[in-house]
Amino acid sequence: MQLYDVVVIGAGNAGLTAAATLSKKGMDVLLLERHNIPGGSATSFCRGRFEFEVALHQLSGIGTPKKPGPLRSTLDQLGVMDDLEFVPMTDLYRVVVKDQIDITLKPDLSQVISELTRHFPHEKEGIKGFFDLLYNFFLQVISVFYLKDPETSREKYPLYFQYALKDTRQVMAQFISDPLLVTVLSPYATYVGVPPSKMAFADMAAMFFSYIEFLPVHLKGGSQTLSNALANKVIQNGGTIRYSCGASKIVVEDGEVRSVITETGEEIPTRHVISNASKYATYVELMDDIHVPEIVRNEMRQASHSPSAFTLYMGLDCEPSAVGITESSNFLLSTTDMETTFNRMKVLDIDERDGMMLSCYNLMDPSFSPPGTCQVALVTLKYGKPWLRVPPTQYAEEKYRVADNMLKAAELYFPGIRNHIEEIEIATPITHMRYLGTPTGSIYGFENFLKDSELFIPNQAHIRGLYCAGGSVGLCGFQPTLDSGVQTARMLLREKAA
Ligand SMILES: Cc1cc2nc3c(=O)[nH]c(=O)nc-3n(C[C@H](O)[C@H](O)[C@H](O)COP(=O)(O)OP(=O)(O)OC[C@H]3O[C@@H](n4cnc5c(N)ncnc54)[C@H](O)[C@@H]3O)c2cc1C
Repeated sequence: MQLYDVVVIGAGNAGLTAAATLSKKGMDVLLLERHNIPGGSATSFCRGRFEFEVALHQLSGIGTPKKPGPLRSTLDQLGVMDDLEFVPMTDLYRVVVKDQIDITLKPDLSQVISELTRHFPHEKEGIKGFFDLLYNFFLQVISVFYLKDPETSREKYPLYFQYALKDTRQVMAQFISDPLLVTVLSPYATYVGVPPSKMAFADMAAMFFSYIEFLPVHLKGGSQTLSNALANKVIQNGGTIRYSCGASKIVVEDGEVRSVITETGEEIPTRHVISNASKYATYVELMDDIHVPEIVRNEMRQASHSPSAFTLYMGLDCEPSAVGITESSNFLLSTTDMETTFNRMKVLDIDERDGMMLSCYNLMDPSFSPPGTCQVALVTLKYGKPWLRVPPTQYAEEKYRVADNMLKAAELYFPGIRNHIEEIEIATPITHMRYLGTPTGSIYGFENFLKDSELFIPNQAHIRGLYCAGGSVGLCGFQPTLDSGVQTARMLLREKAA
């Protein structure tokens, strides 16, 4: 039986960067992945002549060689930059609120402010005030939270102390009264799956700051390219990866990790585990109940799981313009009542009341699909529970029925899109449960409510040698989870050296 320094469970973003960081430091790393490819959400699949991107709509934090973002530095340190090509997006996002507004913002602060002011001249002062605050606040968040200034004080960082506990709606209300403008400023709430009234302003500030300052980018070849590059790096560094090899148990004795048992029953001795499975799965499914510390038990009792998603992956037999797609990231809404839009996530069916996002990479990268075609992902957030109530015998019928309804809703924005479908695949919350192993198929970890923000619940080891990394122990999204793996690996190294 080979003893490994570390067993990493799960080759999602965080599992891959954790394994790459530790193997680079010379540790003997074994990475176990249940699926037969690396990436978790960061993967692709093929249908006909299309290779479909599963998850990535907009990558944040890359920046340019002249103005590098934090993720560029992270990937550089891991040694994978030569394998990657980034294509900056020309739009921050387009928002259509049916019969009310159709507006596109560009990833440039002065353009964002001027375009919003052009549409909402009566809110000129508020728009300027909101973005001034957002930028100044987030610069203080960087110093306090990310750079961990040892001399943090209320006097030195007044905005941090004043706004870190506020929700996004509260802060917007301080500057803006037009509900249509609030809606135009709120699409990023869908990237964490909670309405602005429950979203930490710090999270909204992080997204606006990161996407505007470092541009939203697309990865040539899709997110699978990044996952493959990281997996290759783990192997080049001397690590081992086993695919189609799930972990079924983390063995704990006397409060310390002793081994990991695979789904085939093999026991692998180790003193360190980094779990990229969800925190819930790690403590509730992979461990004997008796070993779960009380603090984690309480957290699990109170926590609820984030929404999952219902997605149509479509290969169209035409250029994007033929169906009216002019921007890469399109948020489609029928109302300015964000609470109603988010409440629709609890309903299994889809109609025009659901908020949807359509993304199309071909606008900046025509090579993303065969010449004369384009690839489109149409996604709406949905909780998994209603899907768990569908009897298995009715699942396929229900999936196609809902997909048909979603297409009807999409045709209100992109007439004729249905007639151009050459390939289509549908992902439901059950699909995400199957491929990610998350409870109810959640794609954003635990619900990202302000009260559960990582400002309050730091990621730490509760059992000696056991660490969690990924979307369930911090902010979700590509940039945060890729960073989470690196930070967790560093925590392990620090505690091992202590
Ligand atoms: C449809 C969709 C759209 C998205 N759009 C964006 C976007 O535009 N921008 C953005 O930044 N983010 C986006 N995200 C979110 C982003 O993809 C995720 O936050 C991120 O990829 C999660 O990474 P993770 O490290 O938590 O691992 P996950 O992706 O959750 O992967 C976990 C891995 O662990 C494996 N695993 C689980 N249990 C076991 C076990 N017992 N044994 C072995 N292996 C196991 C799974 O098979 C999986 O490979 C999107 C997600 C989805 C699903």
